[in-house]
Amino acid sequence: MAIKIEKKITGYNVVKPEDKVAAPTVTGVAPKEPRHAEVKQAEVIQMHESVERPETLIGSTFKIKSPLFEHALYVTINDIVLNAGTPHEQRRPFEIFINSKNMDHFQWIVALTRILSAVFRKGGDVTFIVEELKAVFDPRGGYFKAGGVYMPSIVAEIGAVIEQHMKNIGLIHDPEMDDATRRLIAEKRAAYEQAGAKKNTEASAAASAKSEINDSGFPPGATLCVKCNTQALVLMDGCQTCLNCGYSKCG
Ligand SMILES: [Zn+2]
Repeated sequence: MAIKIEKKITGYNVVKPEDKVAAPTVTGVAPKEPRHAEVKQAEVIQMHESVERPETLIGSTFKIKSPLFEHALYVTINDIVLNAGTPHEQRRPFEIFINSKNMDHFQWIVALTRILSAVFRKGGDVTFIVEELKAVFDPRGGYFKAGGVYMPSIVAEIGAVIEQHMKNIGLIHDPEMDDATRRLIAEKRAAYEQAGAKKNTEASAAASAKSEINDSGFPPGATLCVKCNTQALVLMDGCQTCLNCGYSKCG
């Protein structure tokens, strides 16, 4: 197909073999667009289906031990580094594998990992996967991980693992907690601990030593926060307050 150039040519570039990988990024650009727009874009490689898998990928393996599963699950996420050494360098998940001794769940695990890998390779924003998976509830009920975080299902924990990985590689950033919130949480915690200490002086020393913190590092008896799924909700001045994320039932 011949392309008629109706505008003045302001720049050009000879296509090199290494540009071929980048070429599909500009397919969205209509042929009538001025040529120089393509030249600028072609330098940055974006993730898309035809990016070839390099021989070697770097990745991480996470272990999931759930009371719902007899054996541990090992989740491996491998990453591809695009535009290495340039200001556009980006590390993105490329494929996911889940291994286990337990073969009972083989079917859906293979299906899930294939679809997740396909989504990773499609490119674009893949972080939505985390929320989708974390929202899956097991009708038989979830479980508590060490650290007091509630997992509504094994699929949700796979989502949490992917989230952790995406945070590690800088694809997801923890929402910045503003200084005011952080200070407020620290103040509330100090007040709560002070109130607890007062009570403890009356009780025996042994009891107080035992009851300082729970597994997640929050006061014992703290209940599950609906916002961050951590056992950090304590009653303060008649109001349930989370010492982890600052959530409060009374606003
Ligand atoms: Zn919370």
